[in-house]
Amino acid sequence: MLGTALAQLRHGLSLVFGSRVRIADFERIVASILATRAEFGGIGDLAAFRGRALDQDARRPIDERRLRRVMRAAYDNTVFYRQHLDRAGLRPEDITLSTMDTLPVTPKEALRDLPEAFVDQRVRPWYRAETTGTTGAPTAVWFSRYEADLFSAMTAVSLLIDFDLGTDDVVQLNLSSRAVFGIHCVLNATAMVGATANSVGLVAPEVALARLSGSAPLAGRRPRPTLLSTYPSYLGLLVSTAERLGHDAGDFGLRTIMCGGEILTDGLRRRAERLFGATVVETYGMTEISPGGAQVCAARHLHLNPEQGITEVLDRTGTRPAEPGELGVLTFTPVHPYRETTLLLRLFSGDVVRPLTGLDCDLAALPATTRVLGKLQHLREIEGRVVTPREILEVVEDDPDAVLPSRFATVETSDGLVLHLLADRDGVAERTHERALAAGLPLAGVVAHTELATMPATQPVRADLRELRFADTAAPRTEFAR
Ligand SMILES: [Zn+2]
Repeated sequence: MLGTALAQLRHGLSLVFGSRVRIADFERIVASILATRAEFGGIGDLAAFRGRALDQDARRPIDERRLRRVMRAAYDNTVFYRQHLDRAGLRPEDITLSTMDTLPVTPKEALRDLPEAFVDQRVRPWYRAETTGTTGAPTAVWFSRYEADLFSAMTAVSLLIDFDLGTDDVVQLNLSSRAVFGIHCVLNATAMVGATANSVGLVAPEVALARLSGSAPLAGRRPRPTLLSTYPSYLGLLVSTAERLGHDAGDFGLRTIMCGGEILTDGLRRRAERLFGATVVETYGMTEISPGGAQVCAARHLHLNPEQGITEVLDRTGTRPAEPGELGVLTFTPVHPYRETTLLLRLFSGDVVRPLTGLDCDLAALPATTRVLGKLQHLREIEGRVVTPREILEVVEDDPDAVLPSRFATVETSDGLVLHLLADRDGVAERTHERALAAGLPLAGVVAHTELATMPATQPVRADLRELRFADTAAPRTEFAR
């Protein structure tokens, strides 16, 4: 019964254009899933419904209408797109699915420079969400109260269906406390489900581990956190700290670790799953396209959800679709009823992937790419071959002794590309070089460093957005407490 309801919901939402989605509908779905679980002890195979979607042909006329609507709204009601289309000599009605490539992409810098120029002037904005900006200056995105409520409700349904979250579950968030919008929506979602939650932030890893392993007895709740949401680099920091402190899986009550926002390697995943005794689930999202996103299937493809917008994979210049297997960039056009405030047409995200075809996985009905291979500006070209950050990270973190979060830099020398990495054990550099060559990475050498100070500049990671407490700082204490 519930399965049918969800399928109808999914189909229904695709067809809703004249009005907003009713948040109450989502709340009813959440309530009925909870009721079913309470009565039957489970909700069956609802996860399958997330992979089912209208096929390409059935979706096309719907996408055509959604595109027409967002084009018209963007041209009539935003400062940026009025100028953008005028400059390109285009009228909004010129742009259809088949002529989309005549519209120049929207670079992220344009949104960064003046986010208010993208706001639909008919909508009442509520919250200015800022990205954490580890790969450049932070970008701001305005949202309405409706969008926040919708995002919360959709997250609640996802927590129930994809993560089997129950009222006895305890959610721990180790996300940057500046990511308030996302945290607000997840906390709202846990409230809808009836679970408990704790936003711990990017604090010292010892503090986060104490929360994960310490008991907090409350009636009807698990004593320790059961679901953790964090970034790969912070997960790496937790793993290495827990290993150093002698923790093992018996110390934790985690069932699932949701991890996204950076590249998650197979090596880190394995090490985290072994240490915490939990399943690591990779997620893909971006403030700019919320609540849109993508799912990583069991076969580790990235599947693009067609419900919340029109997603293209363009070549690296952003001028034509990338061919299957070719390096391309995820490009997003969020649509109504999921997006009403910050309108974005063909946002060129900078996230590099390769389109995949002919797949045979549980989400094969959805368009797919590889997982994100890195940011466009971090690709390196050596001897005519492009090297992606993921290729390097996979090789680096595939070592059981790899320092986590890993730190690396590549330097072009007269001999070729040399990888510098932080290592605190002997043999890591040699093994990393062997794995790199076996993986076909054209590395001339690997240099190990025992401290960051001697290394060439490395990329910052989100785990660097450390949040301090008074106990962590050496600030002088006053004689008398107030
Ligand atoms: Zn797949």
